[in-house]
Amino acid sequence: MNLHEYQSKKILASYGVPVPEGLVASNPGEAEAAARALGGSVWVVKAQVHAGGRGKAGGVKLARDLAEVTAAAAGMLGQRLVTKQTGAAGLPIEKVYVESGSDIERELYLSFTLNRERGRIAVVASAAGGMDIEQVAHDTPEQILSVSVHPAAGLQPWQCRQLGFGIGLEGEQLAQFQSILLALYRVYTEKDASLIEINPLIVTRAGRLVALDCKLDIEANALFRQGEMAALRDPGQEDPAERVASEHDLNYVSLDGDIACMVNGAGLAMATMDLIKLHGGAPANFLDVGGGATAARVSTAFELILSNPNVRAILVNIFGGIVRCDLIADGIIDAVRDVGVRVPVVVRLEGTNAEAARARLAGGSLAIIPAGDLTDAARKVVAAARAAP
Ligand code: GDP
Ligand code: MN
Repeated sequence: MNLHEYQSKKILASYGVPVPEGLVASNPGEAEAAARALGGSVWVVKAQVHAGGRGKAGGVKLARDLAEVTAAAAGMLGQRLVTKQTGAAGLPIEKVYVESGSDIERELYLSFTLNRERGRIAVVASAAGGMDIEQVAHDTPEQILSVSVHPAAGLQPWQCRQLGFGIGLEGEQLAQFQSILLALYRVYTEKDASLIEINPLIVTRAGRLVALDCKLDIEANALFRQGEMAALRDPGQEDPAERVASEHDLNYVSLDGDIACMVNGAGLAMATMDLIKLHGGAPANFLDVGGGATAARVSTAFELILSNPNVRAILVNIFGGIVRCDLIADGIIDAVRDVGVRVPVVVRLEGTNAEAARARLAGGSLAIIPAGDLTDAARKVVAAARAAP
């Protein structure tokens, strides 16, 4: 689960990590009042959306007087921000964060994440902060330093110094860096974070280290024991279809293509998407209806995938291991009738009672195209999507 920058910084501050002073605002008047309350003569107005890359997309604006603060807030609020990370539709800007401006001497990069291969928390630092870190990793991998934390020992001071020296810090800054790292390690473990990314961590002209940006993600599987974090969720930043899916325990991710997929099992769903691609099509979504696909879940799943107006054909690919294919076939027939499916539906059912299931699908009067194996199904659905008006 993603948090907003202003929420993340509040948590960081409570752990003693230096962040700029800031206030959140929902309209231009509030933004002006926030700048007034903060005082000073330079402010930064930042769009609060669940995505990075805001700076380059016009979502971070420097303001030198109150009129500029108001204008920047008015220009952002109510708009959608499209960044490299959001996709073409962008994300709605419902809040801006007004911060006191910082005097930047250097921009560093710092993050905590889980190295799944090693099963350990990785701390990554770079002197090349403020820019696209993926680009830095690609072009100059030697600029990316990382240490891996032993789960029993925790992050060690020598590891902090190793990273600090590596990115060119010395003296007092090294001590600040170490206390920031140890605080962030506590945030990461105590809040069940999956990512903390500070880009940039700045050195001010006065020589102080400050977290100028913060991306904090909480592991969704830990929300049951992170009530305070769960309360920070902002459904307004979530894809509406993905939100409905999560309420029904369906794993759904919308994609750019026009062939909707309904599959049981994440692995089979990935394989199905690969096959659609292989045969020249493009999936409109990833959807795992789960091992216990029931007729009711199939119905909900149809509604969900049809809420995407780009869908031109549907591929249902169910392997009946735990479930009986004939029951699923009934569910599909009912759903296609009740939901009012107007696009071609290709169905491939395999496993328990598959023969009976095929007979039922073939017997129905609805426009369901039965398929034999996976390749046959992929070919048929790609052809159906091309032929659809
Ligand atoms: P992101 O683009 O979504 O990662 O947003 P950031 O919060 O990282 O802001 C992007 C860039 O704006 C930073 O890398 C800084 O260069 C610049 N910026 C942000 N806040 C300030 C500030 O207080 N003063 C100055 N001079 N620049 C800032
Ligand atoms: Mn940033």
